[in-house]
Formats: sequence, structure tokens, C-alpha cells
Amino acid sequence: MRVKTAEFVTSAPDYPGCPESDLPEFAFIGRSNVGKSSLINLLSGKQGLAKVSSKPGKTALINFFRINGSWTLVDLPGYGYARRSAAEQEQFNEFVSDYAAQRPNLACLFLLVDGKIPPQKSDLQFLQWIVEHEIRFCLVFTKGDRVKPTQLKKNIQSFLEEAKHFVAGDPKVIACSSKTGRGQGEILQFIDEVIRAWKK
Ligand code: GDP
Repeated sequence: MRVKTAEFVTSAPDYPGCPESDLPEFAFIGRSNVGKSSLINLLSGKQGLAKVSSKPGKTALINFFRINGSWTLVDLPGYGYARRSAAEQEQFNEFVSDYAAQRPNLACLFLLVDGKIPPQKSDLQFLQWIVEHEIRFCLVFTKGDRVKPTQLKKNIQSFLEEAKHFVAGDPKVIACSSKTGRGQGEILQFIDEVIRAWKK
């Protein structure tokens, strides 16, 4: 798939504020600073589409972008930002969990995991929650250019090993780098395949 148009639709402050739509949605989530905005910009081919954060954790909105007029890219707030208060964190969790668990046209949730570090508890806990709620997901390991290929492979394998405790079968895994462009084609191709199956 080639991205020809990418346009901002709206920002929702809570789940009831999400726009009604029949188009398949592909949502992106991960810990703050994982590289989500950079990846969204890479996928859309628009540098300023998602703001690359100078202040991580600042935005707690769900942002919707229409791609090629045929599907929606959804930018979910980053989780696990330490400077958020407990009350804010709880409200935010509810906001994201309502969207992920209830959105009828959510076609796939991309869980972004920092590929340059060993498995983190918060990512595994969130993945377990996704699995428990039977949400279709794809694991995307980010910042692949920041480590040696052997280390990246090791980090991915360790993560999958931990995930085996609650994930059945082999999950879809894509390694990427917003710096080199690695993974861009693979993610877009995967989205294309899911959309084709969605239409059937
Ligand atoms: P977000 O908070 O998840 O949206 O993360 P950002 O996209 O704002 O990225 C956080 C920081 O990591 C920024 O300084 C980015 O330039 C950097 N970054 C993001 N993706 C990559 C990547 O693939 N490679 C490298 N080297 N740096 C990256």
C-alpha cells in the first residue's frame, strides 16, 4: 500500500468523544517515548502529522487520521508516564481501555515496544490485558537502529519468551526504525491484508 493522503480528523478527549465510523481502524499504543509519533509520521509520510514529543506524556487525547480515505490511523496516548498523578493515570487507563476493548471497528492494535531494551513489565502487563480482551494485535519493536542486530533479536526473543505465559501461538511481530525506514513497508502491507479480510 502507498499512502497518498493522510488527514487529521479529530482529537477525542474521552471514549464517547470518538467519531462514529465504519472504516477499519488501526491504533498505535506504547509507553511514552517509545517512538510512536515518529513511526506514525513515517507511515503517513507526513513529518508533522503526529507531534514528536519534546514533553513526553503531555497529550492524553485520542487522535484520528484518515488515510487514503479508506482507513483510520488512531494515535492513542502513551502509557506509563511517571510524572502523571495516580488519578490522571487511572483516568487515562480507563480512556484507553474503553477505546481498545469497545471500539467496534478496531481492526488491529499495534503495541509498540522499545527494541533497544530488555522486556519491560508494563509492556508485558498491557499485552496480557490485550490478550485477555481478545483484541487483535501486532507487536512492533521500535528504534531498531539503536542496537546491534544481534541485541535487537535477543530483546525480541526475550519479550516473546515472557509473552508465552499468556499469548497462544506466534504473534505478528515487526521490527522497525523511524530513522532508517525499516518496517514501514511491512506494517503498511500488513494493514492492507487486514483491510482486505475486513471487507470480505
Ligand atoms: P513517542 O513519545 O512514543 O511519540 O516518541 P517520539 O516519536 O516522540 O520519539 C521519542 C524520541 O525517540 C525522539 O527523540 C525521537 O527522535 C526518538 N526516536 C523515535 N523513533 C526512533 C528510531 O526509530 N530511531 C532512533 N534512533 N530514534 C528514534
